[in-house]
Amino acid sequence: MLGNTKILGVFGHPVSHSLSPLMQNAAIEALNIDYIYVPFHVLPENLEQAVQGVRALNIAGVNVTIPHKEQIIQYLDEVSEYSKQIRSVNTVINDNGRLKGDTTDGLGFLKSAEAQWGKIDGSRVLVLGAGGAAKAICFALARVGCNIVIANRTLKRAEELSEGLQVAYGSSISRAVGLQMEVVEEEIRQVDMVVNTTSVGMYPGVSETPLPSCLLRSNLMVYDLIYNPLKTRLVGEAQAKGARAMTGLKMLVYQGALSLEMWTGRKIPVDVMEEALIKHFGKGSK
Ligand code: NAP
Repeated sequence: MLGNTKILGVFGHPVSHSLSPLMQNAAIEALNIDYIYVPFHVLPENLEQAVQGVRALNIAGVNVTIPHKEQIIQYLDEVSEYSKQIRSVNTVINDNGRLKGDTTDGLGFLKSAEAQWGKIDGSRVLVLGAGGAAKAICFALARVGCNIVIANRTLKRAEELSEGLQVAYGSSISRAVGLQMEVVEEEIRQVDMVVNTTSVGMYPGVSETPLPSCLLRSNLMVYDLIYNPLKTRLVGEAQAKGARAMTGLKMLVYQGALSLEMWTGRKIPVDVMEEALIKHFGKGSK
């Protein structure tokens, strides 16, 4: 590190579990650029001061994670149209003291899916869950003309998300349903892809699955956003049925790579980031 080293980081609470420093520093090292990426534990009551700190300390950019993604918007100088739409920022760019907010979650999802499966434009998609991740993904899917059914345990949340999509993209873009098995059974028959955005199946609940295997079939694409474990029960059962299935590690990598690209203007070695994470999980880290 020298006097000119540029600082990047992540704001979160908690932040000690964040894998961003690991994968971002792996990419920074591979690119041989003079940056360092550090975790910042920011309590909600200190968020405004922390944003001022980005300006005062000339920090080049930060990622933003739970619980700050929505609250940070009010402290920034501008935010992208997409961030306005989903009320979420995961990337802040310091442009000579002017702080710009954007989100790479949705595009990270799309790019990771396309890297694996090719173009998914116009697909019919069943999204399980209606939380923060579901919102980013549904708006990204809508932008590429997908037709979306949102199934959530709390129906009201699914309805609110669907209404937001319909306001932005028209009334035929989405529908909301409950997560009861008979409902999901009916819906899954009519889609090309299922995306699990619920936390069902995440460590330590690795024996759980949001979908019984009898509902899976070979001509389905299955994307489970969970990346811990690297292979969820859902993905294992989908693959056993001959389906194309993936967990969320690639989305984690692509959303991070897109942030690093915004800060540095460089083409990011996504493989290096992914390898760093796989090595980390291989050590038995949870
Ligand atoms: P969130 O806002 O808290 O939403 C959680 C969602 O899961 C809600 O729809 C919730 O339903 C549902 N849910 C939770 N427990 C459930 C259960 N027992 N049965 C049925 N539904 C249940 O969380 P989030 O930020 O969207 O994150 C969701 C998941 O995505 C997490 O596993 C997270 O690790 C993963 N994720 C991955 C990436 C990546 O880069 N790969 C990025 C973001 C998130 P209710 O509305 O009924 O509570």
